[in-house]
Amino acid sequence: MKIICIGRNYAKHIEELKNERPTNPILFLKPDSAILLKNQPFFIPPFSKNIHYEVEVLVKINKVGKYIDSKFAHKYYNEIGLGIDFTARDIQDICKEKGLPWEKAKAFDGSAVVGEFLPKEKLGDLENLSFSLIKNNEIVQNGNTNAMLWKIDEIIAYASQFFTLKKGDIIFTGTPEGVGKIDENDQLTGILNGIENFSIKVK
Ligand code: MG
Repeated sequence: MKIICIGRNYAKHIEELKNERPTNPILFLKPDSAILLKNQPFFIPPFSKNIHYEVEVLVKINKVGKYIDSKFAHKYYNEIGLGIDFTARDIQDICKEKGLPWEKAKAFDGSAVVGEFLPKEKLGDLENLSFSLIKNNEIVQNGNTNAMLWKIDEIIAYASQFFTLKKGDIIFTGTPEGVGKIDENDQLTGILNGIENFSIKVK
């Protein structure tokens, strides 16, 4: 399986990182080795001094598809989840400055936290899903999918022009504002529609 991630999908997050607003979705991939195993802590890797959390809504693809029309994209997923796109911001800044690929900053082991997937019918309107990230006892990110620049179905249509989607693939749909650094012993808890979806310890 593969993980497809969308960058810069929330206007206020684009502003906080002083990025340019893209004219098309920004896509990058993480390999399956990036998935943080269930109930395991996240170990801060030795190559970065500035790992950031980015809480994101996840979509699990349920069948193979290419050149999917956004009108039919809803047929390609039944489950929605929540996760973290861990980012080595110090390395990403160097990559961006030099125009180099982002993989070292985005696709390293453990960089993809994948919480529990829920049937989409249980979640109601997918274009009005609230989600947040709690670091220790503080809410650090608070988002709603209504602020996405590209909605889930548009992301699927766009990404499937480049990459054949396969059953089990996961899409990370981008992070809202409030990203920040993690430190040893932090506890990160993701909330989707008011319900705890994952909780991980940083070591
Ligand atoms: Mg992200």
